Amino acid sequence: MSTKAKSPAPLRIALVGARGRMGAAIAAAAKDTNLTIVALLDAGDDLAAGIAAGDAVIDFSAHSATAEVIRLTVAAKKPLVIGTTGHSATEKAKLAKFAAKVPCVWAGNFSVGVNLLFALTRRAAAVLGSDYDAELVEMHHRFKKDAPSGTAARLLEIILEERKLTAAALRHGRSGITGERTPAEVGVHALRGGDVVGDHTVIFAALGERLELSHKASDRAIFARGALRAARWVVKQKRGLYDMQDVLGLT
Ligand code: NAD
Repeated sequence: MSTKAKSPAPLRIALVGARGRMGAAIAAAAKDTNLTIVALLDAGDDLAAGIAAGDAVIDFSAHSATAEVIRLTVAAKKPLVIGTTGHSATEKAKLAKFAAKVPCVWAGNFSVGVNLLFALTRRAAAVLGSDYDAELVEMHHRFKKDAPSGTAARLLEIILEERKLTAAALRHGRSGITGERTPAEVGVHALRGGDVVGDHTVIFAALGERLELSHKASDRAIFARGALRAARWVVKQKRGLYDMQDVLGLT
């Protein structure tokens, strides 16, 4: 009789957005792990049947698909990981309320480095104060459909929270006679081109010095590995809304 411990059954994943860039990266990252993709789902597929086949759902599709993915996942009572970006703050708040009916990790960025950048940005914004002008520059590949990126939106939220400002403070690109910059504004600049996976730089500039916090992603595999890590984590959680900071224990 063999005394070898039986390895646990692989976690079965239903992947939405499977034919996309991230879908391919997630399917590739799932090889050699104790996860198996049992349903590769994309536009036009029977999402309900695919979702029912998995232990958990990972969605990296399009913002227009999120409401339906949440509806079907909640109906099937499955844990959910959402990486899709491009929702307005109001839309996201509304959808997040429904997603919280199951264990759900929703993050604009699944990279460990970027999640540390969130923490460093909060600290820098708090220490440097409003004498340091805050600006954000992001760059992504030419195919990206939304701007600014979900990661940029989260970085901006953090700066606004620390500065006690609202979204009215954001200046998206500047053009024409804009007048002098005021301390109560936060500049946002979205560059698009080539195959850039994702660069984000937060700048704090005062008279005499400038601090720049930069993260550069060179391979989508970092997001894919993070999403799989989130899936392994979320199946053990109670229902509710979590983000990657929770998965990494940064909160
Ligand atoms: P993509 O355009 O290459 O792929 C999206 C896929 O979703 C396509 O195959 C498309 O057919 C499919 N899709 C569209 N509508 C659908 C629907 N109703 N049902 C099922 N599938 C549908 O995009 P991508 O680069 O793979 O990115 C996908 C999403 O993930 C975007 O929102 C992107 O911003 C986001 N993203 C998030 C992270 C993160 O870490 N959170 C990282 C990279 C990309």
